[in-house]
Amino acid sequence: MTQADYYLLHALQAGNYKTYDKYHIWDFVKEQKAKGLIRHWGFSFHATPDILDELLTAHPDAEFVQLQLNYADWENPDVTARENYEVARRHGKSIVVMEPVKGGALANPPTAVQKVFREADSDASFASWAIRYAASLDGIITVLSGMSNIDQMRDNLSYMKEFKPLDSAEQATVRKAQEIMTGVKSIPCTACHYCTAGCPKKIAIPEIFAARNQQLVWGQLEEGRRQYTEAVKNGGRASDCIACGQCERACPQQINVITRLKDCAAQFD
Ligand code: SF4
Ligand code: SF4
Repeated sequence: MTQADYYLLHALQAGNYKTYDKYHIWDFVKEQKAKGLIRHWGFSFHATPDILDELLTAHPDAEFVQLQLNYADWENPDVTARENYEVARRHGKSIVVMEPVKGGALANPPTAVQKVFREADSDASFASWAIRYAASLDGIITVLSGMSNIDQMRDNLSYMKEFKPLDSAEQATVRKAQEIMTGVKSIPCTACHYCTAGCPKKIAIPEIFAARNQQLVWGQLEEGRRQYTEAVKNGGRASDCIACGQCERACPQQINVITRLKDCAAQFD
């Protein structure tokens, strides 16, 4: 008999979590576990700590939760990473970490953050700080690092094969980086693309946001403009948005896509 080791209910968020009750999905997953088809079950989560508390109170047999945890979003009021982590731990849950490198953004952080990390350890990659930070928290089962090529895998293995949690000096270094990141007003898009399939105007939302972030994070106005031109080559422009709201309902980061696109349109169109 084939058995799934870890089975997740996918991406519970404010706009959909009641649907899981409506279609008895919680009962379904428990039945599959009772049949021996699943060893451990949990859910991935993109909402506020009060909803997480409500879900874990209603379903105390969930064995783990998958949360977005990274040093940049730890105190981010839109992500509530720290608070979600604390709620999960208060309920005694183990945690799978997603987005430890924030969709790749923390592999190439702003210059001031790079300086902090370089001064602390000139050999360590920027991604290593982010992944080790997440993996150093209590109760972590695994960190989904989101590697996309062999060099990233080699880098990951170099510090995760024989993992050492961040020591107190390293934690202090990350806190400095955290403070700097708090002041960076970028669009918190992780390029998951959940929003794009249903867009009636075929707007390449994450690519447009990446172009704007090039300007907001790096101050590279012309490079942002170049990336925007590329992003709208085969689809709608930011100003083509008709504010239907489909993308905002799909976005696990609760980004105000329509408002952000207006800003992009003012900048680029
Ligand atoms: S609100 Fe705008 S960007 Fe979002 S799906 Fe609708 S048209 Fe596309
Ligand atoms: S769903 Fe949200 S986070 Fe994902 S690509 Fe779209 S805007 Fe970015």
